[in-house]
Amino acid sequence: MDYKELSVAQFIRMSKEGDIDISDFYAKLNCELKALQKKYNYFVTVVENKDVSVDKDSKLAGLPVSAKDCICTKGVQSTAGSKILEGYVPPFDATVIARAKKDGAVLIGKTVQDEFGFGTFSTNSAYGVPKNPHDVKRTCGGSSGGAAGLTAALDTAHIAFGQSTGGSISCPSSFTGVVGLTPTYGRVSRYGLIDYANSLDKIGTIGKCVDDVRLLYDVVSGYDPLDQTSIKDEDKRDEKFDIKGLKFGIPKEYFPSDMDESVRNVVLDAIDKIESLGAEVSECSLAHTKYSIPAYYIIAMAEASTNLAKYCGMRYGMEGNPSGKHFEEYFSDIRGKYLGDEVKRRIILGTYTRMAGYRDQYYLKAMRVRRLIIDDYKKAFKDFDALLSPTMPFIAPKFTEIEKLSPVECYNADILTGAPNQAGIPMLSLPCGTSKGMPVGLHVLSDYLREDIVLNVGEAFEKISGQK
Ligand code: GLN
Repeated sequence: MDYKELSVAQFIRMSKEGDIDISDFYAKLNCELKALQKKYNYFVTVVENKDVSVDKDSKLAGLPVSAKDCICTKGVQSTAGSKILEGYVPPFDATVIARAKKDGAVLIGKTVQDEFGFGTFSTNSAYGVPKNPHDVKRTCGGSSGGAAGLTAALDTAHIAFGQSTGGSISCPSSFTGVVGLTPTYGRVSRYGLIDYANSLDKIGTIGKCVDDVRLLYDVVSGYDPLDQTSIKDEDKRDEKFDIKGLKFGIPKEYFPSDMDESVRNVVLDAIDKIESLGAEVSECSLAHTKYSIPAYYIIAMAEASTNLAKYCGMRYGMEGNPSGKHFEEYFSDIRGKYLGDEVKRRIILGTYTRMAGYRDQYYLKAMRVRRLIIDDYKKAFKDFDALLSPTMPFIAPKFTEIEKLSPVECYNADILTGAPNQAGIPMLSLPCGTSKGMPVGLHVLSDYLREDIVLNVGEAFEKISGQK
């Protein structure tokens, strides 16, 4: 049997009915994953599954699931894309992995990412750069580039776990033409996630269609006593409803004047389609958007620099021979050898912004700006059920174009994703058309805990645009 074009829903139905020979399925999948790895480099580690047994009563019934490499997986190397964690094999599963396995998921591999999540194009990975399946000269986006690229390229049932601090689920989903759900901060447990910035990190799901991201999100979300920031409110709204009558805001700051003209037009057409379903659409303003990038990078780097302090050659990660060396020299040797350039840059900048004497000027000021950004959304969600915008202001750039960008130009690429990620509101990126043959993403944002709204809008859009 050929399993090409098998959807997640079909796989689960057939598997439950015993219509799939699971050993045959995984034997063929193993070959396919190896071929994809050779061509596009989506994995740090491919898991070869041999004796898969299926619990037909489980929700996922043997479904292949991949995880970004910053998510700890029992018995499978988890490096977060860094050489300093090469060879680290966790003795435990992150909560999302434990929950997914309990519901019948099978882990097929750990996907490539920017080192510790530091990047927008997955070019800061220590394990090779993933290539966009629509054009191998272009990036998959980052930092969950392997997860999104794999989802786009793999022609059979599969859902991916991604992780976002400042846009790392939405950006690569947009660049590779798949659907990415970033849940409300605290909705999905971070237990077992190798942290980037604790107050910003979210684990989410990436799939070929809205149903897929909804399915895996449903399996893993909900309170977890192992994560102190996990939301206790179990009043989860997951009904499907018609989007007719919903009110949509179009933030004028999210269509910057220097954005790609054809991306703008594709997104405006998509918004027209949503309006044609009986939704009310009007312009709105999120006044503090222009401060979102400096605030995001100051907060993210400050938190990252403290998180990374533990990788010093003792207890965590790579070790060396400290004999005869002053501890500062030994720590510097290890960190100098195993951490990449972007990581070093962020440790230096992050440490600087929270030093005595600078803390008020940078870190605390950024925290106050973050509050203003959150207030912008709170105000907007009094008038609107959801906000619509492009996910990224341009299509996936070519690697030759990325090489020419300065670090600050790379940071500015997050102009549309930095603010919602700082607020911690739920967001969905979904493919809404193409420009120069490359996918364009529509971003749907909603209020805290309203994953139901972004998912229902996504489904309605898929139907009207003929994607489903
Ligand atoms: N591009 C952003 C950064 O480099 C976001 C990355 C992420 O969400 N992990 O920080």
